[in-house]
Amino acid sequence: MSWLDVPAGTGFGIGNLPYGVFSTPGTLLRTGVAIGDHVLDLAAATGDPVHATGRLNDLMARGPAAWRELRRRLTGWLTDESHRTDIEPHLLPREEVTLNLPIEVPDYVDFYSSRHHAENLGRILRPDSPPLPANWRHLPVGYHGRAGTVAVSGTPVVRPCGQRKAPADDEPTFGPSQRLDLEAEVGFVVGVGSALGSPVPVSAFPDHVFGVCLVNDWSARDLQAWEYVPLGPFLGKSFLTSVSPWVVPLAALEPARIRAPERDPRPLPYLRDDDHPWGFDITLEVRLNGHLISAPPFATSYWTAAQQLAHLTVNGASLRTGDLYASGTVSGPAPDQRGSLIELSWGGQEPLALPDGSTRTFLEDGDVVTLTAAAPGPDGTRIGFGEVTGRVEPAR
Ligand code: MN
Repeated sequence: MSWLDVPAGTGFGIGNLPYGVFSTPGTLLRTGVAIGDHVLDLAAATGDPVHATGRLNDLMARGPAAWRELRRRLTGWLTDESHRTDIEPHLLPREEVTLNLPIEVPDYVDFYSSRHHAENLGRILRPDSPPLPANWRHLPVGYHGRAGTVAVSGTPVVRPCGQRKAPADDEPTFGPSQRLDLEAEVGFVVGVGSALGSPVPVSAFPDHVFGVCLVNDWSARDLQAWEYVPLGPFLGKSFLTSVSPWVVPLAALEPARIRAPERDPRPLPYLRDDDHPWGFDITLEVRLNGHLISAPPFATSYWTAAQQLAHLTVNGASLRTGDLYASGTVSGPAPDQRGSLIELSWGGQEPLALPDGSTRTFLEDGDVVTLTAAAPGPDGTRIGFGEVTGRVEPAR
């Protein structure tokens, strides 16, 4: 228990302690830790300049021993009444701070590791073929995204323009995307890099990955459908990827760890994780204009983040501090567990009815999409991830 008044049911209890980067009017960016409705100013509380750089990269680069030690100190400060007079002056109401992009992201990768999502997309887009591509159960399919357009929650989603050609069209046309979509995903932040030429095994996942955030991989389905053969996603994805401002440390998710579902066929040796189960029981929630439209269960993911990291580096590609990789759209088996509108509206054929009487196939200008998530924490508590939100603005 903390001496601080932490609201009952908060996702930001003493078992979480997520890191973010914030400012207040007229002050510089610095690292903070969320606790209840407050932020602890780490730059002020510790005096360590690593927390005054305006990004988490320098702290993350110190490695797992330093992460553990800082978490141990923070837990002590916030639970032991004897620290109260020293720490309390450095607590700010969360509603008074502005949250920044927490990570400088050198490289961004997006995977495609939800079997239900991949099968749904296969059925919608390639109804005459098997729903899963031949490689899908052998390797975590992914693509390299655009790191420079990873932005913090709240960044406006300007409707992208581009080329599209529906199968019935004779020629491609240019204009604002007519099939703008969301993708509810979980993101993993690399803290410790790796050497070029040296793969990172599944077992080394906690030596490299610092924490977890939420990701909305905004997608223009019409642009994507026309451009993706033969080299994969490009402009249909690169216009914006939104992330939540709080990074939940891997240590906070220890109570949420689970085994991934049975994999058949058995993965190749470099992807085996029998002794390193890194699935997480995280439930996402997707809201459109405030209405809950889906609750995708990350627990159903076929490939874990540890396997994704092993696959990402198995060719010797190196990691850098701040690299972000996302799970791929999370969808569960039930219709109300689908993590994208292309699935929820089944390719646009079955409009989604919202409680306000309106319907949606894809996003309209003015729509606000908000992703949240929760995982089990210690002693029956809940680990929250904050939110990643964005409002769609008209094309420019
Ligand atoms: Mn995606």
